[in-house]
Amino acid sequence: MSNRVDPTLITELEHFGLKDAHKCYNCGNCTAICPLSTPENPFPRKMVRLIQLGQRDKLLEAPEPWLCYYCGDCSTRCPRGADPGETMMVMRRYLTSLYDWTGFARKFYTSERFEIMAIAIVAVLVGLGLLLFNTGKPNWDHAAINSLWPAEHIEIADLIMGGILSFLLLSNVFRCFRIIMGKMAFKIPLRYYASEAKELLIHTLTQKRFSQCTDRMQWFVHLMIMTGYSSVFLLVVVFIRWFQRDHIEYAIWHPVRLVGYYATFAILYGTTYAIIGRLKKSKAPYKNSHPTDWMFLILLQLTTLTGIFIHFTRLLDWPATTYFLYVIHMMVAVPMLVLEVPFAKWAHLAYRPVVVFLLKVKERYAQETAAPATAEAVVEGAIS
Ligand code: SF4
Ligand code: SF4
Repeated sequence: MSNRVDPTLITELEHFGLKDAHKCYNCGNCTAICPLSTPENPFPRKMVRLIQLGQRDKLLEAPEPWLCYYCGDCSTRCPRGADPGETMMVMRRYLTSLYDWTGFARKFYTSERFEIMAIAIVAVLVGLGLLLFNTGKPNWDHAAINSLWPAEHIEIADLIMGGILSFLLLSNVFRCFRIIMGKMAFKIPLRYYASEAKELLIHTLTQKRFSQCTDRMQWFVHLMIMTGYSSVFLLVVVFIRWFQRDHIEYAIWHPVRLVGYYATFAILYGTTYAIIGRLKKSKAPYKNSHPTDWMFLILLQLTTLTGIFIHFTRLLDWPATTYFLYVIHMMVAVPMLVLEVPFAKWAHLAYRPVVVFLLKVKERYAQETAAPATAEAVVEGAIS
């Protein structure tokens, strides 16, 4: 690994939101206080130091930014106001941009204008698509979305979009895998990966490590947003045929309805909590808000609110309002999916458990392959 000092690193990270890392005088309080830091992977002091020393290559290969969940404890206790928690967040943005081979994530994170333009362009394309591609036979007597945009047609569009997004996200995750594993990438037998697959699932679904932080409320809010969004994603992408139905109201206890209500409540609760926190700057993780933080919360709220309005206009049987709101809803929901999943916040949700999983695989492999070597050494030692 190169030790080359790159004085431009700190300036570059400033484009990703870095502000106070230069104030750090390396006392180590933050690492001592961090509930997730370990002797094998200490942070955040080490990471702040890498930035100060311009160690770009070491930063690129570091798994530590993905081990931090941004509880903010370290920022609260830093005697210099160097905001190490936010620095870890900046590193996640930077690493996301490096994993992304399209270069889109970099533009998204470093240019507010690009971010707004990209969202606006996708929104307009979606709106035009819905206006141009429909059955042309709207039901004006009853609110029936399927009369204009049948669920089967939306399903096809969903599958195409899902395929493209999965390809982009998985190819970036693969680059993350290559970087984190380094020379070990293809040396570790597959059975080690298989044996730790359970960890990948658990960390993906529960963000278990986050619960070890002092502020468990942050974990809860994170979990609400993640599970709410994942539930609604499943409903509108995988189960759209059962979700987008006209004139057939499911019973209140029907799984589709229950999942829909849970998703709505969870997203609204989580995003409202985070928006109020960011407006009030109520705690360390909310003190510095990057434009992408705001965009993410606003798009999620708008998607949920327009979804709720559609639910009511359908119940009230207002056709024109329902069709209009449906177009607006899709113009908000699709850009969020297309831009956030492979390039921004939702990509973080993939990288984090993957890195935790890869470290587990490495650890297990090291443990199991080190044992025979130690035994041999003991035998050799006894002979000599
Ligand atoms: S970031 Fe703050 S707490 Fe951490 S080493 Fe630097 S000065 Fe100390
Ligand atoms: S924000 Fe929390 S998890 Fe992240 S480095 Fe600081 S103390 Fe550790």
